[in-house]
Amino acid sequence: MYKEAAILQEMGYTLWQLRQNPPEHGELPKPPVLAEKIPMPEAHALEAALDGATKSALSGLASDKRAATIATLDWTALTEAIQDCRACGLCARRRQAVPGIGDRTANWLFVGEGPGVEEDAKGEPFVGQAGKLLDNMLAAIGLRRDHKVYIANAVKCRPEGNRTPTAEEMTVCRPFLLRQIALVAPRLIVLLGKSAAYSVLDDDRNLSVLRKKPLSFGAIPVVVTYHPAYLLRNLPEKAKVWEDLCRAREIFQESENSILAEGGKK
Ligand code: SF4
Repeated sequence: MYKEAAILQEMGYTLWQLRQNPPEHGELPKPPVLAEKIPMPEAHALEAALDGATKSALSGLASDKRAATIATLDWTALTEAIQDCRACGLCARRRQAVPGIGDRTANWLFVGEGPGVEEDAKGEPFVGQAGKLLDNMLAAIGLRRDHKVYIANAVKCRPEGNRTPTAEEMTVCRPFLLRQIALVAPRLIVLLGKSAAYSVLDDDRNLSVLRKKPLSFGAIPVVVTYHPAYLLRNLPEKAKVWEDLCRAREIFQESENSILAEGGKK
């Protein structure tokens, strides 16, 4: 039995009883892990006195090559690549890049926006008040950040003043997030806020539109909801988040049931 009563009381809700405890389930096959680090391309290798159109074309090729390289990295190489990355301007003011945290074989992947001041100092996503609220949200559906949950952000370096990352910054950082998704191979992705939705789904529609839609990333179901930092400023929206989390839990449960029905391993 989860500690929902206490958590929901803290969040200001009445307890909804889940019909049954979720069963454990088996692991999905993981993508192959490379034994060796693959060197990253030089960020400024294409600097030359070229006309704008050529520069633009070469920039696209370099970007494709960078993304293709990132798509081959194992966890160690990926973490190093993120920590060393200087591919966008957000590297200038970071104390450190914040790759992500949690269970690398997680069933649930939560994606936020980017590190704030506390995350930048600690090197971990979702610390401080927003982190506490996220922990409460996780606990409300029987999850913990260190068990079967992985947490990442759309951008890995802190935007100054906690501003929203630009579309360009999210696009440049996206290959890292896509590689994290591939390595974790989650059973469900929860996108916290508009930046996360843009980075993963390449969809910039409002959350009010995306929240209730049946969405997926490849074969992985996706649920979009509000970012905990937004909730701290807009407490009445908590009810919507609880609704979204219940839907996420239902989708996950349905996926569990179909795996069990097909004779999948737990
Ligand atoms: S935000 Fe992402 S792309 Fe930009 S410097 Fe940091 S790791 Fe690199």
